[in-house]
Amino acid sequence: MPEGDTLHRTAHTLNRVLAKQRLVRVQSSVPAIAHAELAGHLVEEVTALGKNLLIRFDDGRVLHTHLKMRGSWHVYRPGERFQRPEHQARVVLDVGDALAVCFAAPTVRLLAAHSANSDEYLNGLGPDLIPDEFDEHKAVTGLLALGQLSIGEAVMTQTALSGIGNIYKSETLFLCQINPLSLVTALSVDQAQGIVRKARALLRLNTHTMSNRRTTTTGKSDSPYWVYKRSGKACRVCGHVLRMQRQGALHRSTYFCPTCQSSP
Ligand SMILES: [Zn+2]
Repeated sequence: MPEGDTLHRTAHTLNRVLAKQRLVRVQSSVPAIAHAELAGHLVEEVTALGKNLLIRFDDGRVLHTHLKMRGSWHVYRPGERFQRPEHQARVVLDVGDALAVCFAAPTVRLLAAHSANSDEYLNGLGPDLIPDEFDEHKAVTGLLALGQLSIGEAVMTQTALSGIGNIYKSETLFLCQINPLSLVTALSVDQAQGIVRKARALLRLNTHTMSNRRTTTTGKSDSPYWVYKRSGKACRVCGHVLRMQRQGALHRSTYFCPTCQSSP
């Protein structure tokens, strides 16, 4: 699953290409979108909400995509060869001098103008950690409400807070010295607040660099992480061996240091 910073960068790129442009052609493997007569409409703006991309049109309709593990948006010049197989293209938005193509996204749907602001799924997402405007209290409360989940699962629960994927989960909890296997009920309010603030700081740092190189440590490009994908290697702080454990229904990998991350 892409991290929130990647999605915000994608939204920024798509917005630069599509905003205020008129759609000359729209193709989709989703019949409801193929027949929606979007051609001729203007794109208003492209935004990210957690890991969701929202493309708003001038009549109030919204194209919602969620990329999960395999989905991606690409931008092409007219006639340029796609970098992924054409049959994986779920939506093609052609604005004349550029094409935005969404490949392999599991969620691709068009929201009607009257329901775009009251969509149950989008309204059920917790606060996005990246934008300037951020409701920290709501995010901390949402996290603490997931009492019986392990902390590693809870920080990736998008109904509580939006934007953390596997990398930021492992790195944030290491930097906060929090054991990902502990239950949320064991967290103090201060610890929960610390997690939210650290994750937000890391995500924003890597969003604003506008590069695909992501770092949570000292900026060394050959080893940008504290624990992510470093199981079996020595902890950069204490020297003990780092571990990886799969967590939750989706068996997502969590990397951590059993020595540094002994609380709560
Ligand atoms: Zn350690």
